[in-house]
Order: sequence, then C-alpha cells, then structure tokens
Amino acid sequence: MAKTQSAAANGKSYELIDHAYDVVVVGAGGAGLRATLGMAEQGFRTACITKVFPTRSHTVAAQGGIAASLGNMGPDSWQWHMFDTVKGSDWLGDNDAMEYLAREAPAAVYELEHYGVPFSRTAEGKIYQRPFGGHTTEYGEGPPVQRTCAAADRTGHAILHTLYGQSLRNKAEFFVEYFALDLIMGDDGACQGVIAWKLDDGTIHRFRAKLVVLATGGYGRAYFSATSAHTCTGDGGGMVARAGLPLQDMEFVQFHPTGIYGSGCLITEGARGEGGYLTNSAGERFMERYAPTYKDLAPRDFVSRCMTMEIREGRGVGKNKDHIFLHLDHLDPAILHARLPGISESAKIFAGVDLTREPIPVIPTVHYNMGGIPTNYWGEVLNPKAGNEDATVPGLMAVGEAGCASVHGANRLGSNSLIDLVVFGRAASIRAGQVLDRKAPIPGVNAKADDAIMARFDKSRHANGATPTADLRDRMQRAMQADVAVFRDGPTLKNGCDQMSKVWADKGDLKVTDRSLVWNSDLVETLEFENLMINAITTVYSAEARTESRGAHAREDFAKRDDANWRKHTLSHVGEDGKVTLSYRAVHTQTLTGEMPDEKIAPKERKF
Ligand SMILES: Cc1cc2nc3c(=O)[nH]c(=O)nc-3n(C[C@H](O)[C@H](O)[C@H](O)COP(=O)(O)OP(=O)(O)OC[C@H]3O[C@@H](n4cnc5c(N)ncnc54)[C@H](O)[C@@H]3O)c2cc1C
Repeated sequence: MAKTQSAAANGKSYELIDHAYDVVVVGAGGAGLRATLGMAEQGFRTACITKVFPTRSHTVAAQGGIAASLGNMGPDSWQWHMFDTVKGSDWLGDNDAMEYLAREAPAAVYELEHYGVPFSRTAEGKIYQRPFGGHTTEYGEGPPVQRTCAAADRTGHAILHTLYGQSLRNKAEFFVEYFALDLIMGDDGACQGVIAWKLDDGTIHRFRAKLVVLATGGYGRAYFSATSAHTCTGDGGGMVARAGLPLQDMEFVQFHPTGIYGSGCLITEGARGEGGYLTNSAGERFMERYAPTYKDLAPRDFVSRCMTMEIREGRGVGKNKDHIFLHLDHLDPAILHARLPGISESAKIFAGVDLTREPIPVIPTVHYNMGGIPTNYWGEVLNPKAGNEDATVPGLMAVGEAGCASVHGANRLGSNSLIDLVVFGRAASIRAGQVLDRKAPIPGVNAKADDAIMARFDKSRHANGATPTADLRDRMQRAMQADVAVFRDGPTLKNGCDQMSKVWADKGDLKVTDRSLVWNSDLVETLEFENLMINAITTVYSAEARTESRGAHAREDFAKRDDANWRKHTLSHVGEDGKVTLSYRAVHTQTLTGEMPDEKIAPKERKF
C-alpha cells in the first residue's frame, strides 16, 4: 500500500505517494502498450503511466499500416525488407538493429493477429498488404512490393485497442492522466524510477522500479505545422537530457509529402499505395520525371523535396501557387470506401473536398522524428563513453518514436514505425526477462533526487515573469518551421540556432498564471514546452553542424552525402543554460547473423 513522504522543494514541501514495481512503462502508445503487455505476460509487476487515456495516444491516428515481409500478395523476404530500410535510412541506420527489425517483423505481426487485431483480408483470408513508398523487391531492382499490412486506414487504432485490452487481461496496472515529470537517477548513474503528477487531483506520485521504459512518442509539436497530436512534445527526450544523457540524430525530421494544405492533417501514403498520384499546376504527374522507376512511391524525403522544388519553380497549385494536388478521383469509389474510408472523411472535413471527384490540396508537413533517445536493439538506453560507445544505462530503456535504435537512420520508410513499435516493445520485454533479477529488491528512496525533481516542478509552477508560455512556444515553432525545413542552408540554420538560444534565454521570463495543482493546463503546457525546447534546440544545432545532405537532412550548401566524414550518429547534450554540446558515435555496420550479404547493403547512391 502506498505510504506518503514529503519532498522539499524551494523551501516548500510536497507529499509524495509511493509506489513500487518491477517495471514502469511511461507511455501507452503502440510501443508502450506492447512493452507493458510483454512485461506483464512474464509476471513482472508492471505499471503503465500515461498523460492521456491509452487509446488516445498518437498511435491511434496511424492510418496506412505496418510493414512485414509476409509475402501474402507476392514474393517477399526479410532481406529485401532490410535492404529497403538500409537504403531508406540513407546508410545511417545501425545494421544490427535493422536486421533485427526486418527479421522479427513477421512474427510480431502474427502475434498482433493472434492478440486480435482485425486486419483487412484477401479473398483467401490472409492478411491484406498494400504497396508503400520505398518498399521494393529484389534489393531495389524489382517492382514495388505489397508489404504493408493494414486494417483499412485505421491500423493504429486497431493495434492500440487490441494491445490495451490484452494488457488489462494480463493484469498490468494503468495510471491514466499522470504526467511523468522526471527520472529518479541514482548517484551510480542507474535509473531508479520516475515521479509523476496526477492531473485530476493534483497529487504527486513516486514510482520506484527496477526498470523504467520510456515510450513517450515524438516531438512533432516543436514545429508550427505537424501531422502529430498536440501531446507529441518529446517529454521522454526532455527527461533523458535533464538526466545528463545524450540525444541522437536529432537533425533528422521527416516531412510527410501529403499533409492537407492548411490544417496539416495527414493523408496516408497508403493513398498513393492504392494508386493515388501527385500533380503540379500544369496537371503534370511530375514524380515520373524525378523517380522514373518508383514515381509517386519513392521514399518520403525524396517526394517532399520534389514537391518543394515544383512549388519553388512556380508550378505549385492554388491562388498562391504554394501547394500540390493529390489525385484519387480516378480510383473506383468502392475501393476508396473499403480501403481508405478514414481519409475520405478527413478530405471532406479538413479540405472540403469530395475525393471521388476532386484532387486534395497537400503540402509536405512535419511528421516523424528519426532521432531520439539512443538505444541498442534491445531498447537499452546508451550512454556512450570513451572506449565504449555502446555502454548502457542500468534500469533504463526507450522504445518507439521516443527512441533511436537506430533503424530509420536519416529517413524512415512509411509503415516502418508501427513495426518498430511492436518489434522493439517486444524486444524490451524479452530483454527484461533476461536481465531483471526477480529476487533483487526494488530501489529504495532517493531523497536527493526527489527534492531536485520537485524543485524544478515548483519553479515552473510559480514562474512569475511577463511572457505567457504560448507566446514563447509560438516563437519556437515558427523559427523551427522557417529555418529547419525540407531544404536547409548554412545561414538559415545559423539563424535558427540564434533564435532557439534566444527563446531558451527568454524562458527565464515565463509566466504561469494558474498556480493550482488540479487540471492546470497552463502548467502542463509549460512543462511540455520545456521538453519541446530541449528537442528543438538539439535539432537545430545538430543540423547546423552536419555539413552534408543525407535522408531528410537536405542542405543547399552541401548537396552531397559525405560518407567519409559523416556516416556517424550525432550525439547532443544540452545543459541547463541551453548550451548544446555535440559529439559523434560510429554507425554499426555489422549485421547480426551474416545471413544478409554485406555487398547488398554497401553504401551507394540513392536513386528511385
Ligand atoms: C497521423 C499519423 C499517421 C501515421 N501513420 C503511420 C502508419 O500508417 N504507419 C506507420 O508505421 N507509422 C505511422 N505514423 C507514425 C507512428 O504512428 C508513430 O511514430 C507512432 O505511433 C508513435 O508511437 P509511440 O508508441 O512511440 O508513441 P505515441 O503513440 O505518440 O504515444 C506516446 C505515449 O506517451 C505518453 N506520454 C508522453 N509524455 C508523457 C508524460 N510526460 N507522462 C506520461 N505519459 C506521457 C502519452 O500519453 C502516450 O500514451 C503515423 C503518425 C501520424 C502522426
């Protein structure tokens, strides 16, 4: 039973309600739920903390599907899937992790099927699979492959509901609408738990645990226009950075080609998978010019750049010639209804378009963060040291979009994130089964760490400057949107660094109006903004330093990929003063088993 103790913060004291678990998972999206389920299935006492109700996590919005080489619609193999992932990553992903992902993907999808995910079916009753950008046959030499398993265009929704039900069935305990503040870190560098604020009654909870798994999702909201939910604020990255640990490859931010112009709402790549295509103001299917083989199904970084070039060269559509059209109006309305019902609705609501008759106005929109908390392919968080670049942090894992395993490298392929969530959520629990000592005691109270966490919380709660959080957040989002975009350049990146450092300095003048602890959305947004700033500032500084173009990082002043100098991961530390320190870590070029021919995945130019 929970007992209360108090933590001192800036001369005040906060009551802490105490909990002890084997494992605490922070986040209840696809990654957090798969990890929670795997832990609970093995009999670990498992708590899952989440700031929104589990089935409202951003994973619920995933439309298009989940990649696995099941081969239900034609020949496929995990080696082809791995090759596409390596090429998609522009040779920045870690080969061991990418092999693990591609090999384990079919088993992870069959598991989902057996847990009860209602996949769409073929006439023979097999799981239906659709084409997606960058997924090919014959190591990129053959035609596109149908590899993306789908439950209509509501795949994430189906997965979340299934995993939540299964987790409850296995007696995982959920702490819903609890906002995790910070990690409890021991003097020995091990993670001992996390402190969270219960939003509906204002109580503070300390979760002591042998293992904390961060599954807090991405930080799309560092930008002005993003497809991600308003809750995607990079809280895990914030917690890790405050614990003095590095973030990895933050400069790689994916722009999805088809966000609805204006609202940013996503139209899944599955739309092009089902036969949709893009046109410019001349009505030309311009992707045929840039990518003669894969056309509209080239990877996202590539398509987003082509769209931006068309717009810049005056061939955009609309009054201001500033967007592109996506056509589905040539497809059979019955197919649209069966396979893409959700986006038919989105197009109607957010663009006022009947997609059976007219094209949808679209524009590249911030969608996914390839960077995040560095981990190995078991999800164990890395803290690289001189002499051991793969040193891990005891008691801490990260999975899903919050983590960086790194399987997406410089650019993620569509439908490779949902598979990343379940493969690595599952890997984390397999690893926990191997390394957690069931007989060991749960870490004791660490009053020094508790006090420091509550002092930071209290400082934000009583922030009494002159600038509302929304104003500073707006400055951050606009600067990121303008200076760290699809195309980047030395002077604009430099400007982005200066802007972000200024915003950081101005945090000293923040004003939080509401001092209460119950449903204080002003304070929640301030804590989220603090986390966003850590993600944003490391993104822009990492981007400014990387003087090459690779994947989603396309520089006008350094247009070529430079493997000799830059085939390495960026590590970024940020101090309390906002100073960003960069270092680098080697890419893992070794595979796991040798069953993937090395020459197939040797770096070469990316053409489509
Ligand atoms: C519109 C859209 C469509 C997409 N479609 C696809 C697709 O078809 N295929 C594909 O592969 N990928 C797709 N993606 C990408 C993919 O959906 C995401 O990368 C993935 O869902 C992220 O899952 P996650 O479990 O890491 O985090 P999320 O689903 O974002 O969940 C984060 C969890 O962390 C919790 N949390 C965060 N901070 C805190 C805190 N401080 N305290 C407590 N809890 C916290 C939240 O409550 C939430 O439960 C899409 C993304 C978007 C935005």
